[in-house]
Amino acid sequence: MFIRIWRPAMPSVPRLGSSSWWRLSLALFALLVGICAPLSAQNAPNSDPTYQALRNVALGSESVEVNDLYLRRDAATFHLRSGTICFAAAVQGKVTGALFVGDGSLALAVPPSEVDILKLLTKESEFNENFSQMVLRFTDSTYDEIKKTAKPGAGNCDAGTWKDSQRTTRDTLKNNLEIRILEDILANQPGGLFVAFVRGKRYSDKELFTIDPRQSGDQVQFVTYGETKAGLWASFRLSGEHQRGTVGIPVSIEHQQLDTTLEGNGNLTGKASTTFRCKLDGVRVVPFDLFPSLRVRGVTAEGQQLSFIQENKDRDAQFAVILPKTLMQGESFTLTTEYSGKEAVRNEGNGNFFPVSRENWFPNNPQAEFAEYVSYDMTFRIPKAMRIAATGALVSENGEGGQDVTVWKSETPQTIAGFNFGKFKVEEAKLTNPDFFVQSFANEEPPNWVQSLREAASGDILPGVAPRGPGLALGTMNTTLLNKKALAEGEFAVRIYNDYFGPSLFKHLQITQQTACNFGQSWPGLVWIPICYYFDTTVRHELGMDYGDRGYWKVVTPHEVAHQWWGHTVGFNSYRDQWMSEGFADMSASLYLMFTDKSHQQFLTFWNDERSLLLERNAEGFRAIDAGPLTLGYRTSNSRTGFDVTRRLIYPKGAYVLHMLRMMMFDGATGDQQFKEMMRDFVKTYSGSAATTENFKAMVEKHMTRDMDLDGTRTMDWFFNEYVYGTQLPSYQADFSFGAETDQGVLLNLKLTQSNVDGHFAMLVPIYLETADGNIVRLGRAKMAGNSSIEVHQPIPLKGLKAKPRRVFVNYNDDVLASPN
Ligand SMILES: [Zn+2]
Repeated sequence: MFIRIWRPAMPSVPRLGSSSWWRLSLALFALLVGICAPLSAQNAPNSDPTYQALRNVALGSESVEVNDLYLRRDAATFHLRSGTICFAAAVQGKVTGALFVGDGSLALAVPPSEVDILKLLTKESEFNENFSQMVLRFTDSTYDEIKKTAKPGAGNCDAGTWKDSQRTTRDTLKNNLEIRILEDILANQPGGLFVAFVRGKRYSDKELFTIDPRQSGDQVQFVTYGETKAGLWASFRLSGEHQRGTVGIPVSIEHQQLDTTLEGNGNLTGKASTTFRCKLDGVRVVPFDLFPSLRVRGVTAEGQQLSFIQENKDRDAQFAVILPKTLMQGESFTLTTEYSGKEAVRNEGNGNFFPVSRENWFPNNPQAEFAEYVSYDMTFRIPKAMRIAATGALVSENGEGGQDVTVWKSETPQTIAGFNFGKFKVEEAKLTNPDFFVQSFANEEPPNWVQSLREAASGDILPGVAPRGPGLALGTMNTTLLNKKALAEGEFAVRIYNDYFGPSLFKHLQITQQTACNFGQSWPGLVWIPICYYFDTTVRHELGMDYGDRGYWKVVTPHEVAHQWWGHTVGFNSYRDQWMSEGFADMSASLYLMFTDKSHQQFLTFWNDERSLLLERNAEGFRAIDAGPLTLGYRTSNSRTGFDVTRRLIYPKGAYVLHMLRMMMFDGATGDQQFKEMMRDFVKTYSGSAATTENFKAMVEKHMTRDMDLDGTRTMDWFFNEYVYGTQLPSYQADFSFGAETDQGVLLNLKLTQSNVDGHFAMLVPIYLETADGNIVRLGRAKMAGNSSIEVHQPIPLKGLKAKPRRVFVNYNDDVLASPN
């Protein structure tokens, strides 16, 4: 995830001096690379005259003097005490910008959920910024509002600040703001966009306040983008009057027909027919997410060429299409885009390819994330000696003149489409319970980077020179040997998850090796496993890849397979819910460890590792557990807390939340039955759609046990407030002694103390007994509230125990996320 301002940050051309230069360069380009059909002038990118006018807009001649002017925009109040405002020149009769110079301040009154993170960043209880310069861009009523109260002036504003704001969006944020303004100007109705570039004096001189109603998640954001001070300080939904039915994403994609040719040199050529439906009135410009170096050659609909926008790949290169007419809510439209380029797929040598572009190798919805379920028809053309794995079901495979042509169809609408190809060897297994087909693909040869390591290790690079030091004992790096292991792990994970969570949306899974070492990724019916997983542990050690990875290599396959359920069967719409995707996948991996390691040791080590990740201080001195609640997601990472905090928070703590629920629901007689019923119900209810944190909470409340009703409200508020929306971490101390043996057994005296929490903190704490022969037995659960102790004096029947037990303790299974003792 990354900070998202308006639209996904994508890399765009120095300002074009004149349109004739542009046309000339296109003509030259066509000659040089031999594009067959010359592009007509109307279909050249960025040629729309309104877009060009916006792109080149400068300050006009109109200015006003302001005195005590208040501009109120949702939670923000701009107080312009005195100064001059110069307006941008009008485009299509609309003024879309202004520059303020004078004495101003900005106050932010954020919703309660945003107060803590804002305080952390401002180090103050109130947000109050002062500034003497500010650039505004807008499609709302800002121009009229200012004009109403201000006196005409003869001001002269410094155009440098204005130009600076344009460079900021194009080169720093790489976000084409003109596309967004064009959306509203061509929509023929009032817009709601408001963007303020504030040169703050107190927090940062690079501040950005935005309101964009055409956003799926949070429409109001405050961001700083300085290199040493970058972060999303506040982000929340628009409130009240602004909402009136015009808030949300403009379109949702329903179907994609993708024809993709992948060449041996990594070149990708694609043709996408994209069908979308309008979710709002007044859609004329449709933005897409397309990898910047995939250059669009043309867009057509119903035989007509459409105008489109795509700036230089190194700048604000977002792709957007201008429709022939304005569409209204509910209307659907299909357009076809042709594009090609290198860099989206990288040839890594010896038949290894790395798909660099993951979610945008075709024109995708920039706001879909994992909440839009789309049907896909895909055709891939790859060099003959290669094999391809892709999302969906394989419909056909043919050889056509030097190419291998496969056709894939999504069996059910899916969150995303992807592929992996190379010189693969394939292992496969057919499962009957559940009915499932698993394949595992590993490259026959290692990629160049591994090859060169191996050569360096054996001294082949410099013949006659002995390897340095003791030499790398790289041994075998033949990844196909471990292909069977990956297959077996995939099979086993599918079986366990099917039992615990019910069926996923998919009936098959392709586990594929990818050449990147340090991450995996899951797709519908397809996972990428990092190549280093396929190396044996000694090799990983020699390569320095066993760095404090806390069992990552042990759970990478079960974690990625679990995303078939978490992320692809049940979608998660917003960064506020991403903790469920990653956390549930991690918790699923713990189930895998429980079943594959009978000694229980790996299971306990896994939870110890998860806790250490949460409690270790990072380079910035922060513990992830303190940085913010799970629902802040990637926003817990910023230049103050450190950019590794999110990874250290949402995976382990999200996992703990689900694990703690499992432990609370565990029953001596029925085991995990109640937990399984809840999880199966959750998957079934939200299969093929997105679930929120509150949806999950409601599901827990539906299946909670009587013991879990700690406060008598039949809700799980207490637990979610502590661990999901809060940052509490209790400590436990169990002091015990055994008394005399009587007819009723041995007397247990236990004092259990809960500390380091606030007065509202409540928990169900499991108490365990270790028997004389080393077995662990759960005695029961204690309800604890606040910083307090409870005492138990109770005989334990010796029947079955044979001898006096060794000890009594809590949290044997890491049942409660707490400080380690
Ligand atoms: Zn994951």
